[in-house]
Amino acid sequence: MIPVQGYEGRKVAVLGLGRSGLATARALDAGGAVPCLWDDSPEARDKAEAAGMVLTDLTRADAWDGVAALILSPGIPHLYPEPNRLVARAMAAGVPVDNDIGLFFRSWAVPGWDEMDQTPKVIAVTGSNGKSTTTALVHHILQVAGRPTQMAGNIGRGVLDIDPAQDGEVVVLELSSYQTELARALTPDIAVFTNLSPDHLDRHAGLGGYFAAKRRLFSEGGPDRAIVGIDEAEGRFLANQMSEGAADDRVIRISSGQKPDGPGWSVFARKGFLAEWRKGRQIASIDLRPMTGLPGAHNHQNAAAAYAAVRVLGIAPKVIEDALASFAGLPHRSQLVAEAGGVRYVNDSKATNVDSAAKALQAFDRIRWIAGGLGKDGGIAALKPYLKSVVKAYLIGHSARDFALELGDTPHEICETMDRAVARAAAEAEPGDVVLLAPAAASFDQYPNFEKRGEDFAARVASLLNA
Ligand code: ADP
Repeated sequence: MIPVQGYEGRKVAVLGLGRSGLATARALDAGGAVPCLWDDSPEARDKAEAAGMVLTDLTRADAWDGVAALILSPGIPHLYPEPNRLVARAMAAGVPVDNDIGLFFRSWAVPGWDEMDQTPKVIAVTGSNGKSTTTALVHHILQVAGRPTQMAGNIGRGVLDIDPAQDGEVVVLELSSYQTELARALTPDIAVFTNLSPDHLDRHAGLGGYFAAKRRLFSEGGPDRAIVGIDEAEGRFLANQMSEGAADDRVIRISSGQKPDGPGWSVFARKGFLAEWRKGRQIASIDLRPMTGLPGAHNHQNAAAAYAAVRVLGIAPKVIEDALASFAGLPHRSQLVAEAGGVRYVNDSKATNVDSAAKALQAFDRIRWIAGGLGKDGGIAALKPYLKSVVKAYLIGHSARDFALELGDTPHEICETMDRAVARAAAEAEPGDVVLLAPAAASFDQYPNFEKRGEDFAARVASLLNA
C-alpha cells in the first residue's frame, strides 16, 4: 500500500466505495488522515461496513465542514452530464475535488529514494483503445527484462494498493479519461497516448472535452518522454505541442500503417513489421507476424507503443522482441483460446462496440464470426467494409435478427445462444479458418459482463474439442 501523504490529522471525504474507494480509504488511514466514507448506493455502503469500514453520512448539511479534500471514484460524474449532487455540494463548500491517481502521484516518492541506485519511474498509458493491452505488454516486457515492475490503475491493482517502490522499479499505470480529467497531480516520467476515437462523450460533453481530459496527462507535470499515436489529428496536434522541433526526441511518434515524417524518434508498424527510427536512421526492425498474442494491425500499434516506452528505459530491441513473442495476450482481447484441426478459436468478447469489432475483423483472413448481444445505436452498418473476411456469421442474443438484416449477402445463421453458435461454427470450420467471438454488442442480455461471455465461449470451445 502507498500511505497517502499530506493530509495527516485532516478529514478527507471518499465518495464511491468500490475497489478503488476502499483502497483509498485504507491508504488515507495509513497516512494518518481521517477518511470520511460514503456511497450513494446502500448496497455499497453495506459492503464497506461488512469490510470493517466506518461510514460518515456525507448527505448531512454540515458534512463538509473541515473537509480538506473529496476523493471521487471514476464512475461518479463531477461535471457532465451533470455533477453528482454531493460533488456539487462539496464544490459549493470550497472542498478541492481529487481522485486516487492524484493522491498516488503526491504520495509515491518518499525520502528513502535518496539511497536508491535507480530512481523508480512511472509509465502512464491513456487513449481510447489498446490501453489495457499496451499497459500489460509494457509490464510483461519489463518482467522479461528482469526489471522490478508493478501494474496498476484500471488494470491490476488500484494505484494506492501497490507496494512501495523498490530500487529501479517501474510502475505501469492504465489511466482512463475520467481519471486524467480529475487528478490534481499527474506527473508520470513517461506518458503514452495510444489513439483517439469517440467514447464516453456524455461524460466529457463531446469529443473535444474527451481529448482535453486525456491531454492533461501530458500537460500537468510534463513527462520526460511523450509517446504519442499520430494516426489521428488529435495525436498529431499533441505530438506537435510536446516537441520543440522536428528533431526533438522527447516525443516518440507511433503509427500503425505509416512511417512518421521527419528526423525525430519514431516507432511504427507496417505490413506486420515494427520499425524504430531515430535521427534519420533505422535502429531496429521486428517481424510481428509470428507473435500470436498480438494479432492484427491494432495490436501492432499497441506493440509499437509498448516498444517505445521500454526503449526509453534502455531495454534492447532483442530483449523486447523475445518478450513480444512470449506475450500471451489479455483475456477477452483477441485471445487465442484453442487451436484444433487447423482452426483457431479467438475470444475478443471485449469488442463490445463496432469500432473494436472492426479491428478484430481486420486481424484475420477467414473468419467464422460469432456476433450479437445487446446491440448499440447504429447497429453494425459501419462494419460493412470489414465483412470481406467473414466466411459466415453466427448470430446470438437480442440483436441477432437486427444484425442479420444488416449482413446482406454475407452468409449468416441465427443461433441465439453461444452454445449453438460455437457448435455450428466449429462444425463448419475448415483448416485455416478462425472462429472469432467479436460481438459488436454489449453482453447484458445474456451475461452479467463481457468477461463472463468470453469465459462461456472459451468453456464451450474446450468442451467441444475435448468431447
Ligand atoms: P482499452 O483498455 O483501451 O479498452 P484494450 O486493450 O482492453 O483497450 O482493448 C479493448 C478492445 O479494443 C479490444 O476488443 C481490442 O481488440 C481493441 N483494441 C485493442 N487495441 C486497439 C488499438 N490499438 N486500436 C483499436 N482497437 C484496439
